[in-house]
Amino acid sequence: MVSWPTIIKDKQTRASANAPDFDALRESFTWDDARQLLDGLPGGGLNIAHEALDRHLADGHGDQVAIRWLGRDGSRRDITYGELASDASRFANALAAQGIGRGARLYSLLGRVPRLYAAALGALKAGLTFSPLFAAFGPEPIKARMEIGEGNVLVTTAALYRKKVAAWRRDVPSLKLVLIVDDDDVPDGCLALEPLMAAASDQFEIAKTGAEDMALIHFTSGTTGRPKGAVHVHGAVVSHAATGRYALDLKPGDIYWCTADPGWVTGTSYGIIAPLVNRVTMIVDEAEFDLERWYGILESERVQVWYTAPTAIRMLMRGGKEAASRFDFSNLRFLASVGEPLNPEAVVWGNEVFGRPFHDNWWQTETGGIMIANTAAMDIRPGSMGKPLPGVQAGIVERDDKGLRDCAPGEIGELALRPGWPSMMRAYLNEKARYDKCFVDGWYLSGDLAMQDKDGYFWFVGRADDLIKSSGHLIGPFEVESALIEHDAVAEAAVIGIPDETAGEVVKAYVALNPGFEPSVDLERDIRGHARKKLGAAVAPREIIFRKALPKTRSGKIMRRLLKARELGLPEGDISTLESDEK
Ligand code: ATP
Ligand code: MG
Repeated sequence: MVSWPTIIKDKQTRASANAPDFDALRESFTWDDARQLLDGLPGGGLNIAHEALDRHLADGHGDQVAIRWLGRDGSRRDITYGELASDASRFANALAAQGIGRGARLYSLLGRVPRLYAAALGALKAGLTFSPLFAAFGPEPIKARMEIGEGNVLVTTAALYRKKVAAWRRDVPSLKLVLIVDDDDVPDGCLALEPLMAAASDQFEIAKTGAEDMALIHFTSGTTGRPKGAVHVHGAVVSHAATGRYALDLKPGDIYWCTADPGWVTGTSYGIIAPLVNRVTMIVDEAEFDLERWYGILESERVQVWYTAPTAIRMLMRGGKEAASRFDFSNLRFLASVGEPLNPEAVVWGNEVFGRPFHDNWWQTETGGIMIANTAAMDIRPGSMGKPLPGVQAGIVERDDKGLRDCAPGEIGELALRPGWPSMMRAYLNEKARYDKCFVDGWYLSGDLAMQDKDGYFWFVGRADDLIKSSGHLIGPFEVESALIEHDAVAEAAVIGIPDETAGEVVKAYVALNPGFEPSVDLERDIRGHARKKLGAAVAPREIIFRKALPKTRSGKIMRRLLKARELGLPEGDISTLESDEK
């Protein structure tokens, strides 16, 4: 594997970081201290919405912009902390007027519109459990998630309701109330939200929730199989506050943009909760990815902290450095990425184009918040996920008949965490056995393979299911994919193992090309040659297939299991989260 130079950041970045001495903070940090960053409810208890909104109003920040909303049509709207708190209270009162209160479960099925944020925070204020759904899901995945979570309220639009909910509504008896955010033509059996909000008071006495009360249900991405419903509690806000501060380097008043949709955990933990708790101004863009639009937003909105994903970064890279050079990114202070392994080339590319490197970080729906990260004061080793955050104990372990064994530095094993951080899931809904299986010998097993180097940096190898065993070598797809995308022609790559009589498995790659390149036998040979040079013949792909697009989840993760199932003629399994595809 080629090694990339370590990126050492300047003294100024280090001095201004929220954790200028990371190792010292790791030593001294306790979750009890982190809890002190927050307010808590008067008289005891903890509520996410109080920490995200009401606390700031009491401190005199009601006029600060909480959300700068950019409409698909070019419109722009500022919503202050004061306005968002009022809207959340009105929403909570509107629910109460319909007899919906503490303990009920509310789902949203909305694009990134302002009402989504008011509904999420209003539901939390009222002591409901909030579960966001991705608006692009089809009817079946929506119904399945509604059934698993036994949802009582749905907030959506008339069009989404007609297209995706109406046909099965009667089959899900738990669903009592459907609120429609756009009034014009309210479907039968639903209520228009706006008149209810208009009639409601903007004062609401917040539910006296405790740290262990259920607050959120997040469904996993479905990359490896059927999605799981992870349950999170109000106490998770302690993790959100601390990780926003130390992993994303958020400072009050920052302009911050998280590009993830709230239909996924990133878009809620870091697209609603952590930024508001850290009192930043967050950019919310209603539109989907568009290169010019994104560069334009970074420039004209003067974004300082940007949290995005490898798929998006690779799309920007595909557009070329030229396209970026016409924009001014001088306000950017901190760039971070999550969701998939971030190829070292992308880190280096970011450093050239934005003048700042991307800081990769790792976590899962289950962990509720960032666990391992490259922080602002750390030297970045491109291709590494960084180090465990303060309060997080991570290890690399291997299962054997006696239980778990610790792996030595440099050895590949399963990435494991010692439970105890506040945002850890409390259950998989209705799947106790699946949940219990995650815990062995006092560790939570993540299902991801990684290794730790002797300096404590963690390196992602692949999902446990995706590991390839070829002629006695253990091959992680990430390593091969990263080498492939270093070839000028390759924009994205997915690597799987296919059965082979002599080697056990051999490596097969699927690649999407950069503009200006066409599939050909010569190009295939050239890319294979490049991979062999970088990785050696034992690890390089035997075969490369050109694809216009790779199958991905709607949260942007490559679905290798689908490529493999198709390759082997096996059933495709759960594809409810599948987005782009080309068989
Ligand atoms: P499912 O559990 O349903 O198969 P999923 O694991 O993709 O789906 P998420 O919880 O959204 O669902 O994603 C978490 C996973 O994403 C991690 O377990 C890891 O495999 C991958 N991931 C997240 N961040 C990184 C990262 N920085 N580097 C490598 N992989 C990452
Ligand atoms: Mg997972």
